[in-house]
Amino acid sequence: MTVTSPRRAWKIRFRDLRITDPVHKSELLAAVDRVLSHGQLLMGEEVESFEREFAGYCGAPYCVGVASGTDALYLALRAYDIGPGDEVITTPLSWIATLNAIQICGARGVFVDIADDLNMRADLVEAAITPATKAVMPVHYTGRLCRMDAIGAAAQRHGIRVIEDAAQAFGAKRGGKLAGAFGHAGAFSLNPMKVLPACGEAGAVLTGDAKIRDKLVALRYLGTVNREVCHWPSLNAKIDTLQAAMLLVNLKYAEANVRRRIQIGRFYSNELAPFVRCPEVVDSPTDRDVFFDYTIRAERRDELKAFLEEAGIEIKIKHPILMPDQPAYQRLPRQELPLARRVVGEILSLPIHEKLTDAEVECVAASVKRFYRGRKRAVASLGHRRNAK
Ligand SMILES: *Cc1c(COP(=O)(O)O)cnc(C)c1O
Repeated sequence: MTVTSPRRAWKIRFRDLRITDPVHKSELLAAVDRVLSHGQLLMGEEVESFEREFAGYCGAPYCVGVASGTDALYLALRAYDIGPGDEVITTPLSWIATLNAIQICGARGVFVDIADDLNMRADLVEAAITPATKAVMPVHYTGRLCRMDAIGAAAQRHGIRVIEDAAQAFGAKRGGKLAGAFGHAGAFSLNPMKVLPACGEAGAVLTGDAKIRDKLVALRYLGTVNREVCHWPSLNAKIDTLQAAMLLVNLKYAEANVRRRIQIGRFYSNELAPFVRCPEVVDSPTDRDVFFDYTIRAERRDELKAFLEEAGIEIKIKHPILMPDQPAYQRLPRQELPLARRVVGEILSLPIHEKLTDAEVECVAASVKRFYRGRKRAVASLGHRRNAK
């Protein structure tokens, strides 16, 4: 069973991956041109610069560039020797890459229920720890940071690792500390959907441990040291030099993208709070969430989805199936996850990306309001609201 919308010409797209700004585009093309001209198409200077800048931005000592976010998760687990017989505690509500990484390295995913913020409940982590538990993998879902203080404290009491799935949370922070820098390792996806996008597949792992960094460098290239001697069976999961070169360009645009997403998120939350359950907006110099997705919880969710699609607005349910309920994982022991199982029937993600115009954002909000109010007109202005604040 697939849950896809019929293809149509959307008036408002959920994402828009085109590079439309001419200056930005010419910078990307110049970066590609440089790599093609010097001819070092694997590893090299661009990869090293990207790793240095990415680690610097996130405030972590080391970054290892890899081929995807899934590779980042998988290799981070491998770097900490997590494998067969081990358990990794995580959330049931994430993109399936999270659980696949745990299971493919040979460990078993154990789930704790979520809270109203759609993230794993930090207060349930400790009770889920067994002698087999080697790590907890919090996912900063939709770009909202998990309760890393409580998760870190529980992990420390039991001597287990914290490996963050920060794929959706580039730029999110608490107490001035950035997503991916809280745990023993932080894994990022940099695919074109994400807040810091490459122009294709890419990922990165952050860590503060130089030994783990060295091991990740080996693991991303077949487990080899000095490119010849294989110490651990692994895959080829190096970051592409062309992607690293383009990421260096896109890093410069990331902060503006985050700001625009927060602005849109704040408008949606102001407008829609009387009608649906909206995410809280956290935005100060030291604490913020980044709105990778803007996910509401809605009554009559499926009707609202059909109504918005009819109005030409592309929306997504992310994700309609909890990870442990996927066909691939029917053999995992079934766990009670009451809130997560209820919430998957209520969640709906509205369009949010930096290319949306104010008029488009206003149209999305007005359409949601129109659905709940019936036929009454419901229009507000983003500019007006901004001035009023
Ligand atoms: C995107 C994503 C991944 C996987 O990243 P890829 O680069 O697509 O492999 C993992 N976890 C979460 C939460 C994601 O959103």
